Amino acid sequence: MIDPPEDRMKPSTSHEPDSFFACSNCGATHPRKGFPFKCSKCGGHFDFIEPLRYEQPAPASQEPGISRFSSSFPLHPEAEFLSLGEGDTPLIELKRGARSVFLKCEHLNPTGSFKDRGTAVLISALRSEGVTVALEDSSGNAGASFAAYAARAGIEATVFVPDYASGPKQAQIQAYGARIVRIPGPRSAVTEAVQSEAEGEGVYASHAYLPHGLAGMATVAYELVEQLGRAPGAVVTPVGQGTLFLGLYRGFLALRQAGVIAQLPKMVGVQAQACAPIWAVYNAGAAGLGWVREGLTVAEGIRILHPIRGDRILEALDDSGGLMVAVDEGTILPARDELARQGLYVEPTSAVVWAALSQCSEQLEDPVVLVLTGHGLKSAPSA
Ligand SMILES: [Zn+2]
Repeated sequence: MIDPPEDRMKPSTSHEPDSFFACSNCGATHPRKGFPFKCSKCGGHFDFIEPLRYEQPAPASQEPGISRFSSSFPLHPEAEFLSLGEGDTPLIELKRGARSVFLKCEHLNPTGSFKDRGTAVLISALRSEGVTVALEDSSGNAGASFAAYAARAGIEATVFVPDYASGPKQAQIQAYGARIVRIPGPRSAVTEAVQSEAEGEGVYASHAYLPHGLAGMATVAYELVEQLGRAPGAVVTPVGQGTLFLGLYRGFLALRQAGVIAQLPKMVGVQAQACAPIWAVYNAGAAGLGWVREGLTVAEGIRILHPIRGDRILEALDDSGGLMVAVDEGTILPARDELARQGLYVEPTSAVVWAALSQCSEQLEDPVVLVLTGHGLKSAPSA
């Protein structure tokens, strides 16, 4: 079978036999062992050399959640997969006017967000290599997830957060026993701070720079196809770093390659108008970068000015015939409230997918899936 060219590593030079990761910029390779977040030659980030492979779980598999798919994770064959029961989230059908849409309830994962799927894979990799001290930066959800799985793995965790991260998320991170470091200023300042500390003791286990978590996110695609009995017509997700968006896309690619589905769903990414770099570039090309800013938004989880895998997100949009939507700030909290009135309490970042539907519904084929990413209990009560 031929690998889909759109998800191949570039450049396609031959690699050292034990190479596992390659720099997305210069092609420098790295073995499976270790957690290279930045290329020492050019500063680029690493990705897997091989595309994800989907293997159908055995029908009799009793393994809970995403453990069923662990053979597709980038772990050493001897590594134990460490789970808190993530995955197997409900798919709820709701009416939106005359139309039915499906909501994938990722806010019901163990720490209240979709991040747990990726964290389970990353922490399992860290533990299998004997890492005992690790650092992460996050606007909140990835940090809380990281703190929980680190606690379960016996890894000492430090999480850098922007000081605007919601109180409940900060409390959750600390409750798991992680050290929390609050950084004033924009989200990008937090990444700069953690990278400077990561030069000392501890592994910088970034959910954004390291590709491990993408394999965990791909399990959302596997579950959706199981739950619907077919590929969705469209999948709508919030996009900050785009790990969920890209993980889903790669999961659908793997399913297509395995012959489980014939066609990719249309991948729809949603950003808040206040900070919408992918939307700007997708719609206006490079010129769009000129007017993107990191403005304030209640969708704090997607306030990312420079998505690390922005080029990959753009490729996925093109390849799937997808689209980017930017939602007006004033529509986000009403969308959150509309979902809550139907029994689904999510944080404002999650609600952008519901808000986006008014702009793009007519362009989407059934079945349409919206991914709800974070629980409402994690947002500040005033939001
Ligand atoms: Zn490089």
